[in-house]
Amino acid sequence: MIKDSIGKTGHARLSALVTTVVTGVALAVSASPAVAQRIGDLLGSAKKVAQAASVTDEQMVSYFSQMSDEMDRQNRIAPPTNPYAVRLTKLTAGLPSYDGLDLDFKAYLVSDVNAFAIGDGTVRVYAGLMDKFTDDEVRCVIGHEIGHVKLQHGQKRLRRALQQDAALSVAGSASSGARRITSSELGGLIQNVLSAQHSQAAETASDDYALNFMAAKGYAQQACPAAMDKLAALGGGGGIGLLKTHPDPAQRAKRMRARMKS
Ligand SMILES: [Zn+2]
Repeated sequence: MIKDSIGKTGHARLSALVTTVVTGVALAVSASPAVAQRIGDLLGSAKKVAQAASVTDEQMVSYFSQMSDEMDRQNRIAPPTNPYAVRLTKLTAGLPSYDGLDLDFKAYLVSDVNAFAIGDGTVRVYAGLMDKFTDDEVRCVIGHEIGHVKLQHGQKRLRRALQQDAALSVAGSASSGARRITSSELGGLIQNVLSAQHSQAAETASDDYALNFMAAKGYAQQACPAAMDKLAALGGGGGIGLLKTHPDPAQRAKRMRARMKS
């Protein structure tokens, strides 16, 4: 469950938020009147920001699905008969329902070496990644992305984003349901929740989930560190989406190999 009660924790959270907002004011005074006005709005919304801590499951799902729709609008989805879609369908056979999750897999006809998951179970794999990776390596990436969904990493980030952004918190504080987020807000939210660097702890947990996923499905675990080696080798070229959002692949490969031995 995502619900938090506004008890002691809520008050502590509110204090922390107010501290953050007040610090913002000090910075804004020397910034610009427009920014000061914005910070004034933030202060006025402090209560609502606190309420965002109790954002409902329904609201969370709505924001995630709006983010998924936006990403699908911005990227070309491989139609069902496209070779990338055919291959991904084969690799994800039996996975649309896995580990208690409803998952939705699609390939993007985009040359970036990238993949991502959204908290509503949306998993997208880019053609650029599929070109470089073997079937088992793609499966490992898929396992890693399922790990992010299962371990609710996106939900934790979204909650933080709602706490940190007054405008979004107003969206989150509606008493029932969730409102449509404007496209500019959505861009910021996607940047914050999806593109921002994940924590080392979240990535490590998802890597471990991927290794367990490979073992559970009877796939070769060594494909995971092998995929990391490939990413590391690609690193110099730049423009690799996965490298922008994830920790050093050489370190990840090393940790995975050590874990596989134990
Ligand atoms: Zn990750």
